[in-house]
Amino acid sequence: MAKRFPTTRYVEAMNDYIPYGRQDISQEDINAVIEVLRSDWITQGPAIERFEQAVANYCGAKYAVAVSSATAALHIACLAAGLGQGDIFWTSPNTFVASANCGLYCGAKVDFVDIDPNTYNLSVDELERKLTWAEKQDCLPEVLIPVHFAGQSCEMEQIAALSQRYGFKIIEDASHAIGGSYQKQPIGSCQFSDMAVFSFHPVKIITTGEGGMVLTNQEELYQRLIRLRSHGITRNSDLMQGESHGSWYYQQLELGFNYRITDIQAALGASQMQRLDEFVERRWFLANRYNQLLQDLPLILPWQHPNTDSSWHLYVVRLKLDKIDKTYGQIFEELHNAGIGVNLHYIPVHTQPYYQQLNFKWGDFPKVEKYYQEGISLPLYYGLTQENQERVVKTLQEIVL
Ligand SMILES: *Cc1c(COP(=O)(O)O)cnc(C)c1O
Repeated sequence: MAKRFPTTRYVEAMNDYIPYGRQDISQEDINAVIEVLRSDWITQGPAIERFEQAVANYCGAKYAVAVSSATAALHIACLAAGLGQGDIFWTSPNTFVASANCGLYCGAKVDFVDIDPNTYNLSVDELERKLTWAEKQDCLPEVLIPVHFAGQSCEMEQIAALSQRYGFKIIEDASHAIGGSYQKQPIGSCQFSDMAVFSFHPVKIITTGEGGMVLTNQEELYQRLIRLRSHGITRNSDLMQGESHGSWYYQQLELGFNYRITDIQAALGASQMQRLDEFVERRWFLANRYNQLLQDLPLILPWQHPNTDSSWHLYVVRLKLDKIDKTYGQIFEELHNAGIGVNLHYIPVHTQPYYQQLNFKWGDFPKVEKYYQEGISLPLYYGLTQENQERVVKTLQEIVL
């Protein structure tokens, strides 16, 4: 039978195990949660609005809607964008499956745009080529979901120009990217998009345990998002069909969900927001330090577009396998055996068995498939000590040299 709790040896081994990412919870964060637990509201109370306000203000967006996860946020963003049965949406193949699943929940059809081999974000050149083709084939997308991989923004100005020309809506999957900026504007400002989505999973930049948020500058989208979060119900008599029956009355106007976040989580989120700049500064510092410590190894270090300031959710290097006497699998295993929790972001979405059933195959997106052979995420998080970072570098050095 499987053991419910880890053995002592396992725990000891875990003590010098360096994960690729983890949360940082302060005493203030804990106090904020306790305060909610002692209050009258543990869900649908004032902490949610406080959290939404904090994120909207930080990003310079008009509206924010907090929900139970980024996956839920992406789903209602797709619905609010009008994505429906038989419609087409495009995203990057270098992402977590949720960026593509969200549109499939709406009955839409997915396609992918191959990546830029420098940023690992979806390539604007590929996007433009594919749009030209799709226009001729009469299969233009209704929605595009660019993903700000590792916290580095996509080239949103160019993407927005293409959306004007071809008439698609833009939902930024900014799950990695709170605290980053593009053209010196915070990611999440929605200057070049209809909506932007953040994730607050514990490996991301700030956390609520589980949680997500949609930001927008459009009031109509905001109203729709609020409704979809809670069963499609409104209590606003201005939005009702006919007259309100009284102060108890609500109307369900469409089929929504229970995607609400709790006040317990939102209090943690609001408290973490106060530490966001500190979190990102530390990630910057560690990323720059990796850049220096790793420069003589057979690796391609993360390239940064001059228009972007990454939040550094991930520090991804590419192994120059022609200069290393080992396979990718050997290097990955040896790092894990040495207690270095490297990871691989991502297995190209179109190669997942579920997506292969939808008729995608290996070879469809060669650039992301090549990247998948070589990319490796090194540990990077707020609490990573310089000492442990040096251990990562030294171990990697011993393995690849
Ligand atoms: C984490 C992540 C998600 C999903 O976030 P959840 O909050 O776990 O639902 C979606 N897209 C990307 C790119 C992610 O990294």
